[in-house]
Amino acid sequence: MDRLVATASTPITGIMALSFDLTADTTRDALRARAATPAKASLVGLTRAELAAALVAAGIVPERQAKMRAQQLWHWLYVRGVSDFAHMFNISKDLRAALEQHFTIARPEIVEEQISSDGTRKWLFRFPPRGAGRPVEIETVYIPEEGRGTLCISSQVGCTLTCSFCHTGTQKLVRNLTAEEILTQLMSARDRLGDFPDRDTPDGAIVPAEGRKISNIVMMGMGEPLYNFEEVKKALLIASDGDGLSLSKRRITLSTSGVVPEIFRTGEEIGVMLAISLHATNDDLRDMLVPINKKYPLKELIAACRAYPGLSNARRITFEYVMLKDVNDSIEDAKALIKLLKGVPAKINLIPFNPWPGTNYQCSDWETIEKFADYINNAGYASPIRTPRGRDILAACGQLKSESERMKKTERLALEAMMIAGHGE
Ligand code: SAH
Ligand code: SF4
Repeated sequence: MDRLVATASTPITGIMALSFDLTADTTRDALRARAATPAKASLVGLTRAELAAALVAAGIVPERQAKMRAQQLWHWLYVRGVSDFAHMFNISKDLRAALEQHFTIARPEIVEEQISSDGTRKWLFRFPPRGAGRPVEIETVYIPEEGRGTLCISSQVGCTLTCSFCHTGTQKLVRNLTAEEILTQLMSARDRLGDFPDRDTPDGAIVPAEGRKISNIVMMGMGEPLYNFEEVKKALLIASDGDGLSLSKRRITLSTSGVVPEIFRTGEEIGVMLAISLHATNDDLRDMLVPINKKYPLKELIAACRAYPGLSNARRITFEYVMLKDVNDSIEDAKALIKLLKGVPAKINLIPFNPWPGTNYQCSDWETIEKFADYINNAGYASPIRTPRGRDILAACGQLKSESERMKKTERLALEAMMIAGHGE
């Protein structure tokens, strides 16, 4: 680990990406030492009750102590952020050894960590196979800004949906991520940024000047979170638990392509901010771009949005709108968008399309995007796009594992626009 921190502290002068060579045996070993052993069950991602039950079932904690022990572990896991039982100092040595024998609390293996000159970070995490199958790799991205740091998290490996402009949509669903895997993306990122108590932030890291290094999370990586509802719910309830990771629910945004039956539950049972991947204002076009629209057409989607629990002008829904040249980017489309959203407390995020090899779509011209944005601004929706910052390493979320080539302008803009959706406060 030390070696990584030392590399990260190298003064950043150019715009080249800083990339760690984790193929070097020594570095990989250091990270692998903490990587999860698939054979043992993880305690991360369990509710308090499940945690207590697991301790009793393993026969290492008597029933009458279970609640207290679960609380103790919860504190170590989610407040202190430890990933090794040996560091739980107020737990006896014998119990620590028993815990170690039965369970794991390790983080996933970090295959690669890249740091951009503007502080943006991207991790490639490897998770063990669950049952049959192979290990899976997913990407998690961090963007620091003035006053906030946003982490983009994945919910599935691949996706069952086939949105025609989305690269993930061309990949089959490999599997759902577990609550543990969703949470450890956040916990590993907090490790690497020194965002747990008594931890140092690596020298030279770019993080918000005050407050938490990761203040916001967006479920906008790979996958459709509402097709993995239970695990996403468990993970987000733990992430927002006030006695643990303590992220405000107003700073957690879940993005969905429009799984209408789960939208109300998202507000009721999870209570986080909602983003809708809208992208079109009529059913014919949306059927093509976001095929789940055939199942849940716009009328039903907008009705579900209007009924979203807790919706108000202070808690708006974000509507994401990808700008596709000559497809959905005319002023007529902008008018239709405003009409469609009339009366819904809404924010609009224009996302410049991020092209990928093999796609037939192109990103709208910059001028067209600006005109579209002006129309929307005039209708009372503030700053739907922003000027890009230098981003040199990243593929936008929702696009897995692109090479670590320099980021193109459209890629940077797409990523930036998506991240804005996560800025609940
Ligand atoms: N499956 C969820 C969340 C992940 S995608 C959803 O669809 O909402 C996060 C956002 O990125 C979505 O709005 C998605 O439509 C958008 N997106 C996907 N591919 C893109 C691309 N190539 N360029 C720009 N935005 C894209
Ligand atoms: Fe899946 Fe979202 Fe991509 Fe559609 S946009 S294919 S729902 S990840």
